[in-house]
Amino acid sequence: MTAQIIDGKAIAAAIRQQLKQKVAARIEQGLRAPGLAVILVGSNPASQVYVRSKRKACEEIGFISSSFDLPIDTSEAELLALIDECNHDDSIDGILVQLPLPSHIEDAKVIEKIRPDKDVDGFHPYNIGRLAQKTPVLRPCTPKGVITLLNSTGVDLHGLDALVVGASNIVGRPMGLELLLAGCTTTVCHRFTQNLETKVRNADLVVAAVGRPGFIKGEWIKPGAIVIDVGINRLDDGSLVGDVEFDLAAEHASHITPVPGGVGPMTIASLLENTLYAAEQYHDKLPHA
Ligand code: NAD
Repeated sequence: MTAQIIDGKAIAAAIRQQLKQKVAARIEQGLRAPGLAVILVGSNPASQVYVRSKRKACEEIGFISSSFDLPIDTSEAELLALIDECNHDDSIDGILVQLPLPSHIEDAKVIEKIRPDKDVDGFHPYNIGRLAQKTPVLRPCTPKGVITLLNSTGVDLHGLDALVVGASNIVGRPMGLELLLAGCTTTVCHRFTQNLETKVRNADLVVAAVGRPGFIKGEWIKPGAIVIDVGINRLDDGSLVGDVEFDLAAEHASHITPVPGGVGPMTIASLLENTLYAAEQYHDKLPHA
């Protein structure tokens, strides 16, 4: 079997095009363009790249992006005060604080400071709680993007045995909740998991989010399984690879995402969708209200 490639780059481009049209329609109706505040603390090179692409994607579809680049020695109190300002700014629909934060700032305090209706990363306990209780509103971007990719295959997810490898707050855990909501029987693995190989061999759907190149062996993939590779690993020669041995896995799987060009572009597309959702569902006022 040779797997069908799930083209995240093309799917994300189509979403961005639809969003651009929706923004233009809003402006015609006298509504404002959605606004996203992107906050970066320090100069971590990977974070700088992510933040640049998020800001660029916003501008391309007509969102207003406000940039806040803060020095590495910004105090927790200063960051919380900036978030509070953004919370009260009616032109801002979404607030994104790029993670990881410097070690003197507590992630949880920052995430909880963002108003849930502006939490377009979907990490606030309110939004995670809504997802856990089967009534999602703003959903974590990468897992949401994975669900969009899965839906694009047309495969019915109900009853599939799904395996998520990785249990972080930003990918693995919310991914488990999304798959449960989608009707899968879901197992979430982490660093203490035993017999991972057997679990992968039995899975109809594997989502890999560990951050180790070639960690999931291609020969473990069950014939006909769907493979979603969230991992992004840079090798010494500068190339990017995922967590799954792509070539061998593609011989067994029915569908597989490439790295790059699979899940990566979907994360930003979901962020843009969330920002428009926040504007429409929470912040829109009639022009003359
Ligand atoms: P993380 O380091 O926070 O979490 C890694 C997880 O892997 C942990 O839950 C850990 O318990 C688990 N793990 C470690 N060893 C394991 C083992 N032997 N067996 C099973 N599980 C094991 O990483 P993260 O932030 O969740 O990111 C994971 C990967 O996804 C990274 O490569 C990251 O770059 C990538 N990522 C991609 C996107 C995207 O848009 N495509 C977004 C976020 C993260």
